[in-house]
Amino acid sequence: MPAELIDGVAIAKSIRAEVAADVQRLGKRGVHPGLAVVLVGEDPASEVYVRNKGRACEEAGMHSVTIRMPAATTQAELLEQVHRLNDDPAIHGFLVQMPLPKGIDADVVIRAIKPEKDVDGFHPVNVGKNLIGDRDGFVPCTPSGVQEMLGRSGTDTRGKECVIVGRSNIVGKPMMALMVQNGPNANATVTVCHSATRKLKEHTLRADILIVAAGKPRMVTGDMVKEGAVVIDVGINRVADASAKSGYRLVGDVDFESARERASRITPVPGGVGPMTIAMLLKNTVRAAEQSASR
Ligand code: NAD
Repeated sequence: MPAELIDGVAIAKSIRAEVAADVQRLGKRGVHPGLAVVLVGEDPASEVYVRNKGRACEEAGMHSVTIRMPAATTQAELLEQVHRLNDDPAIHGFLVQMPLPKGIDADVVIRAIKPEKDVDGFHPVNVGKNLIGDRDGFVPCTPSGVQEMLGRSGTDTRGKECVIVGRSNIVGKPMMALMVQNGPNANATVTVCHSATRKLKEHTLRADILIVAAGKPRMVTGDMVKEGAVVIDVGINRVADASAKSGYRLVGDVDFESARERASRITPVPGGVGPMTIAMLLKNTVRAAEQSASR
């Protein structure tokens, strides 16, 4: 029987509704959560993402600011902007959209963001908190969205074999730190595979929960999936498609059709992990506002 779909659109919608209720509740205490996004240059994919973030904030009743800076912005100018946001009491969380133009060191920029406003969870303080299981830090939005999807789809993770394909700092590594903790929607035995992993299939075939974030279209095929596994596809890749009006379509890192025949639950692309990222960003921002109000 083909796998049941884990509907990221529906789960993200319910999270955004919970966020909106939290925003109302905080508003009664005079706290108005504010998110800022800094966009340097004109990357078209970033433009879409930033626009969607702004819209989602508005819908949730949050204060949202987009700061556009030209592609010729220097690192010093960007750092000045970061410092202004660090000091702005109306902004509880902000992020600098990646990728940055050449000549700007992303690590220096990330380290300049106050950890308590780093709602992307990329600052080393938050990375460390995630690793030690300190829940008052911020966890990157995509892996925390995946964990939320596992929980809300009723997937039992405790003691399960969780195999993650990909070791990036934004998805694979924080995902590993989340799944290995002794807590709810975690407590799994975690394996992280990457570009130097030999015999990838031997690892993926062991997975009760298979999370793929490799950036390679349809790399994980059905024969690599254990019967009954839960498959989470983080990948978003554009592939040419002459039948589509745009000339391309989006596919994941998992070959959906063949994997669906083996898995018990699977996320589609689009409509799976993608919508979760913004929902988790809003959730992080509301928590940043709440934490700042209680300091
Ligand atoms: P990345 O390129 O930084 O990392 C890819 C990782 O995959 C690397 O660690 C690499 O070692 C591993 N890898 C590559 N080929 C492999 C192979 N053959 N076998 C095993 N491991 C291999 O990518 P990323 O930023 O982690 O993103 C991964 C995918 O997730 C991309 O498709 C990206 O578009 C997507 N993504 C989606 C969201 C979302 O909101 N849903 C957010 C971030 C990234």
